[in-house]
Amino acid sequence: MNERLKIAVNTGGGDAPGLNAVIYAVTMASYRRGWEVYGIQTGYAGLLDTEQIIRLTPEKVTGIVSMGGTILGTTNKGDPFRLPFKNALGEIEIRDVSDKIVSNFKRLGLDVLIAIGGDGSLRIAHRFAQMGMPVVGVPKTIDNDLASTIITFGFDTAVSTATEAIDKLHSTASAHERVMVVEVMGRNAGWIALNSGTSGSADVILIPEIPFRIKNVCDKIMNNELRGKRYGIVVAAEGARAEGGEVIHKGKTEDGRQDVLLGGIGEWVAREIQQQTGKDTRSLVLGHLQRGGSPTTFDRLLALRFGAAAVRFIAEGRRNVMVASAPPDMATVPLEVAVEKMKSVPLDSDSILTARDMGISFGDE
Ligand code: ADP
Repeated sequence: MNERLKIAVNTGGGDAPGLNAVIYAVTMASYRRGWEVYGIQTGYAGLLDTEQIIRLTPEKVTGIVSMGGTILGTTNKGDPFRLPFKNALGEIEIRDVSDKIVSNFKRLGLDVLIAIGGDGSLRIAHRFAQMGMPVVGVPKTIDNDLASTIITFGFDTAVSTATEAIDKLHSTASAHERVMVVEVMGRNAGWIALNSGTSGSADVILIPEIPFRIKNVCDKIMNNELRGKRYGIVVAAEGARAEGGEVIHKGKTEDGRQDVLLGGIGEWVAREIQQQTGKDTRSLVLGHLQRGGSPTTFDRLLALRFGAAAVRFIAEGRRNVMVASAPPDMATVPLEVAVEKMKSVPLDSDSILTARDMGISFGDE
């Protein structure tokens, strides 16, 4: 196909290590085909105020593969179908600016948007596809919780960061004979907690898929005491909850999304352990550390493969699909089905069985 396409690319939702590697791959693979690439800054903001569009060239993207963050900027408050605006009275009004975005896209002669983002971004991309703006989605979630792709970039880096933190906590927890509770990301799926907790030899791992009983968690800590291990490490996914309890959160997000801002489970578990066992217990939240930093080699390569595959699929004429990892290949999934199913940790998975065999408790027994 000799058509000289004009590709737009943006990043949406929370950042994940590897976004820049996708942008790099999209730029390089497009240039190789003689196409032009335009970076839309801050989600869709660059298509509202087109001054915010930047031309991406091989020179412009040199050296970004190893960088965390995204050179295009991102937002999790910019859904163009319900964008919050401050009106003249200083009140927040919700507006639908999607028509303006589609008309700017067409006016600029852009052919396809490569939308890199999580399930929220991909849902937005799907709505744009239905409005006649051709889209190819690249999934981004450090939680690795999308069912239609085997793996997503950013996850390996997040797990490595969490494991490194757990490693460090062993020495300080042991020195003070304390229990340390680490809260990691994982809203609906406990992959980060499970993989980092197992690799980091935690005593207890709490994940959303397995409601826990705090008594079991305390029993595990006290059993360790009896065996002479006088400190403990608990890894809790932010979405973990006690049996019959609710997830612990900090209320609604500012932009009125349905989701609540999770966080607080680590602190709650630490308080309970301290009260019920009398052991000095501290908690910490890894939070955004898990999103930051340079992507691991695994994530870089995966991100480059996602970007290059997006361009190859566009060259083949595929539109309104999400690129998916289907080892050893990359595949496409229609956008409307791509975000339908989440991937939670199967309770009989090898990873769970391995953790149990290592003597790790999930607080369920
Ligand atoms: P995360 O996986 O980090 O939660 P999502 O992709 O699910 O990210 O997006 C979360 C929210 O961020 C969406 O519901 C939407 O409000 C906003 N958002 C996502 N992508 C974009 C984008 N490209 N431009 C503007 N806002 C976006």
